[in-house]
Amino acid sequence: MTAAALVAACYCRSARAFVSSRGRSLATAATSTFPTSSGTPTTNLVRKTDLAASSVRRASMSRQSPRLYSAVVESVEVEVVEEEEDLPTNDNDEDLLKIRHTSAHVMAMAVQQTFPEAQVTIGPWIDNGFYYDFYFPETTDAETGETVPGRKLSDSDLKVVKKAMDKIISKNYPILREEVTREEAARRIEEIGEPFKKEILDSIKTEPITIYSIGEEWWDLCAGPHVESTGQLPKKAIALQSVAGAYWRGDEKREMLQRIYATAWKDPKQLKRYKKMMEEAKKRDHRMLGKKLDLFSIQEDAGGGLVFWHPKGSRIRSKIEEFWKSAHIDEGYDLVYSPHIANLDLWKTSGHYDFYRDGMFDQMDVENEVYQIRPMNCPFHCLMYSDSIRSYRDLPIRWGELGTVYRYERSGTLHGLFRVRGFTQDDGHVFCLPDQLEDEIIDVLKLTKTILSRFGFDKYELMISTRPEKSVGSDKIWEDSTAALVGALDRLGWEYGTDEGGGAFYGPKIDLKIKDAIGRTWQCSTLQCDFNLPERFDLEYVSAEGKKERPIMLHRAIFGSLERFFGILIESCAGDFPFWLAPTQLKLLPVTDAVFDYCKDVAKQATKLGIRVEVDRGSERLAKQIRNAEKGRIPVMAVIGMKEMEEGTLAIRSRKVGDLGSFQVGDLLAELKRCDDAAIEMTLMGDKPEKEEPEASE
Ligand SMILES: [Zn+2]
Ligand SMILES: [Zn+2]
Repeated sequence: MTAAALVAACYCRSARAFVSSRGRSLATAATSTFPTSSGTPTTNLVRKTDLAASSVRRASMSRQSPRLYSAVVESVEVEVVEEEEDLPTNDNDEDLLKIRHTSAHVMAMAVQQTFPEAQVTIGPWIDNGFYYDFYFPETTDAETGETVPGRKLSDSDLKVVKKAMDKIISKNYPILREEVTREEAARRIEEIGEPFKKEILDSIKTEPITIYSIGEEWWDLCAGPHVESTGQLPKKAIALQSVAGAYWRGDEKREMLQRIYATAWKDPKQLKRYKKMMEEAKKRDHRMLGKKLDLFSIQEDAGGGLVFWHPKGSRIRSKIEEFWKSAHIDEGYDLVYSPHIANLDLWKTSGHYDFYRDGMFDQMDVENEVYQIRPMNCPFHCLMYSDSIRSYRDLPIRWGELGTVYRYERSGTLHGLFRVRGFTQDDGHVFCLPDQLEDEIIDVLKLTKTILSRFGFDKYELMISTRPEKSVGSDKIWEDSTAALVGALDRLGWEYGTDEGGGAFYGPKIDLKIKDAIGRTWQCSTLQCDFNLPERFDLEYVSAEGKKERPIMLHRAIFGSLERFFGILIESCAGDFPFWLAPTQLKLLPVTDAVFDYCKDVAKQATKLGIRVEVDRGSERLAKQIRNAEKGRIPVMAVIGMKEMEEGTLAIRSRKVGDLGSFQVGDLLAELKRCDDAAIEMTLMGDKPEKEEPEASE
């Protein structure tokens, strides 16, 4: 297999190469050549049958019930949002970034034209668009002299603002850049009475100060870049989306501002595609599905950002963990456990306390010592490393830990499973000799692919980040490690981009983003060289010459965080997990109370085989029981009436295929066990969420 094919090798989907940040070192598109049965051109939302994959699996198993196997395991109908090309991003399309940035200024000008009392603050570009924060002060009613609270922007206000923006665009004002001194900038801000701008000016450390004007109409402090004139903005590709509250500088003690979110693209076609993607995303929101499928909760009584994994979510998590652990053991890792709190000195030694204190929870006193709940696992692994004398013969040492960490995030930034205060990293550290580094990196990357592709994520965007201005470590170690990262990716034949100077201060790194079923990308895996911690913890090994040397430390995580990965997984498969992960694989539906005990018996047998099974409590009519099981995304249902009980059989239904006929209990369970063991790569990228059927009144 060629290296490129390795990237593309996950059965049916195209492994599109991604583009790097800032448009450098760009990869070209590599598309897999796996055949699909339909032969349909790849348009949006194509349904295709994954024959190539299923024939591989078919050959590998002799089965008693091909229909059942195919219904629960194979991706009979895999629906992939297969766009003609990826939507451009701020990173790979500077023109788009200029459009977004300029649009933010135009929106701010339009808001002030429409509501002169509005004060401007900041308006950065973001993924998919931009926002701008405004402050609406209290006003005094001219007639009554009464104080009127600041305006609350409504959807209809947004329409008016958009019209005003369109007018500014039509007038094709030039965007003019000007350099001024700090004093001049301060004078002009004073003149227009914008207190927040003054604060921004004070926070700008470098000079000269740059000002951008829209014609002679309006200006803003800004560093650019912008389009040349407002006429270059594509009116029909800009849409104002929503208003949200946001504290000035994210500080809940400061003013509450109103943030207008907007999306902007290069042409209306891109905007349309983006909107379609967002509609899909809404139907897949993991917070909504998590509640509906009873997977997890976040409860205000316990505090924000703390996740409760309900039984069904926990079943999935434990399958994920089992797989993760066995994949690591196969790759020569040892699994370790370490404590959740420890003496703060550890994080002083590591430097985390100096660099990341804002993200750490407050310390606690324990018998006159200061303890810290852990924000990172790395110092623990360093301690364990230095607990023995290591020889070069012992290296590489590979340790993996599902390590739960706690980080302080402001309540306003918390978001479902995506941004939380407690999460479990699938952490790992490799301690190796310098000349082992490249091979170790290759192994980490291969393991990453093995693990992610099992969940259906087989399209990656890779980025190498190199030495930043401020860094620790010698020139040689930076050069060698960066060369090892590049060498590893080249040997694998994986495409990547380069973010020059984007590395951490302690070493260069590779970040990997995955792409989900609706085309969104998510940062998950990371692999970082570290020259800092071995130094700080004085890690050593005895070399062949009997000298003490420093090992290189590699930090790596594949999911990143189990919580966040679970959120991504839920959204990508729309809650329709592949059979090996399904929280309930089989549901038994008793037609009458008389068969209830028999159902429980069957369930017991199934559980013994490791099949995840539930018995419907049987208080509803069969049609309703079936509907409930389908809504719960349960792949296999067994209908049991008197006849089935007498014959020792089960009438089997698959959610995807429908009626599959009658099975002997033993045969069905053996077959399901086999399907589960096959633990096949997924129907995962799969199906669209179903339309919610109205509850039948019974
Ligand atoms: Zn600007
Ligand atoms: Zn680490």
